[in-house]
Amino acid sequence: MAELEQRGDRTPAPAKWEYASAPESREIVNLQERYGLFVGGEFIEPRSGEYYRTLDPSSEEPLAEIPQAGAEDVALAVRTARDAFEDGWSAAAPAERAKYLYRIARILQERSREFAVLESLNGGKPIRESRDVDLPLAAAHFFYYAGWADKLEYAFPHRRPKSLGVAGQIIPWNFPLLMLAWKIAPALAAGNTVVLKPAETTPLSALLFCDVLRQAELPPGVVNIITGDGATGAALVKSDVDKIAFTGSTEVGKAIQRELAGTGKKLTLELGGKAANIIFDDCALDQAVEGIVNGIYFNQGHVCCAGSRLLVQESIYEPLIEKLKRRLTTLRVGDPLDKNTDVGAINSRQQLEKIEELVAAGKEEGAEIYQPPCRLPEKGYWFIPTVFTNVAQSYRIAQEEIFGPVLSVLTFRTPDEAIEKANNTPYGLSAGVWTEKGSRILWMAQRLEAGVIWANTYNRFDPASPFGGYKESGFGREGGRHGLEPYLDFDGAEAFGG
Ligand code: NAP
Ligand code: MG
Repeated sequence: MAELEQRGDRTPAPAKWEYASAPESREIVNLQERYGLFVGGEFIEPRSGEYYRTLDPSSEEPLAEIPQAGAEDVALAVRTARDAFEDGWSAAAPAERAKYLYRIARILQERSREFAVLESLNGGKPIRESRDVDLPLAAAHFFYYAGWADKLEYAFPHRRPKSLGVAGQIIPWNFPLLMLAWKIAPALAAGNTVVLKPAETTPLSALLFCDVLRQAELPPGVVNIITGDGATGAALVKSDVDKIAFTGSTEVGKAIQRELAGTGKKLTLELGGKAANIIFDDCALDQAVEGIVNGIYFNQGHVCCAGSRLLVQESIYEPLIEKLKRRLTTLRVGDPLDKNTDVGAINSRQQLEKIEELVAAGKEEGAEIYQPPCRLPEKGYWFIPTVFTNVAQSYRIAQEEIFGPVLSVLTFRTPDEAIEKANNTPYGLSAGVWTEKGSRILWMAQRLEAGVIWANTYNRFDPASPFGGYKESGFGREGGRHGLEPYLDFDGAEAFGG
């Protein structure tokens, strides 16, 4: 109790539970010392001759050497994808395309433990999340789009959908396999071929996925995976592709948009966010606390749609913050492969530094910081789950995306004020509303400028539900029937019956 009083915290001490560690075995994963680029159905050495090391962010232990694809490698991958498109894939019966997508989905399910362990090893996320969220959702995405592959005419009646050709796809490190699934599944269902670049820090699940493609006997060249850093991504943007699908930061998204302006290449951008999670005084408080925790500490807060700005109605501010702080003391931070872990490692040193910088700015600007007592491992990249109260809208921690386990709390009195504060951001990806009144949920949803709005829940995903942003969070939708559209061309709307 003395320790709590010192922190000026009035919440009673939670019961002390000690967990025995329950690590998932790494045995199931077979790492190669060095990987190749996956082009034309084979692993090939990069023409650039360059490699870099990918790490386990929880221990800083090197895991494997990864090719750094250069412009020549990118051009070869795109040419290979073009040939595969012209030599058969574009003419393949739609039901054939569906067959491969179903196979991929089933193989992902069969090998899900292997993928989950690898995802946690290379990315730092808790095994509980990679096992229960990333993998099931990735497989579900392939199942879902398999179903659309031979029904495109019904998805877009009277519009004569046609595939585009080669899609260049660039993804971030926060959900490596899931973002790959979000990109590849609709592209193939729509009859395109693909060149995908995973993020520099998390290439391993994409490289293991190449093995799934071979197991599924997908024709060579239909999917090509090229690894490397931002320069590889930039080369892919400049290459001879028909479309770029990008998920990542708003800054890089803007640069890509400038680069593609006037080229006729299609573009979709899924960018950053600074979502408001809005708590009304009539909601179920304990349930809301779970939603707040899931909203910002899930995947270490490395989530574009994270509920990073908590808007609390003034009348329940004190009890809510008390409950939230108390809940934070029960979060277990540590080994990503431990099945008890709630919050794993920060993905990279660079990301850790960005979080530290913004947290320092929050303190300096005058916000009050709360962090539960927590012992962090000595090696690796870690950040304690953090709550800032006393936050003004102008503070950097209320404006900028932190992309880490850091929550900024603001208050409001009326629904109008909640809307005004929630929309006071250049972003518009997602939002959460907690209230028992259905009419208020609808009233709020009509006024919130966000692509996804969750009501009395947070961070829920389904392949049938479109996802994407407003304003600086990007344009285009992934998931659902909407997610097919960016991968198709249309002959133009036909007159009914035409
Ligand atoms: P990032 O730096 O923009 O990187 C995203 C991807 O683009 C990576 O593969 C990256 O390669 C590559 N890249 C970097 N510079 C490039 C360039 N000039 N041209 C082409 N590609 C380039 O973003 P990040 O920091 O890795 O990821 C975090 C950001 O992604 C956050 O802002 C988050 O909100 C956003 N995000 C959005 C969504 C969404 O669906 N809206 C989902 C997840 C993440 P390297 O890995 O080598 O840098
Ligand atoms: Mg980057």
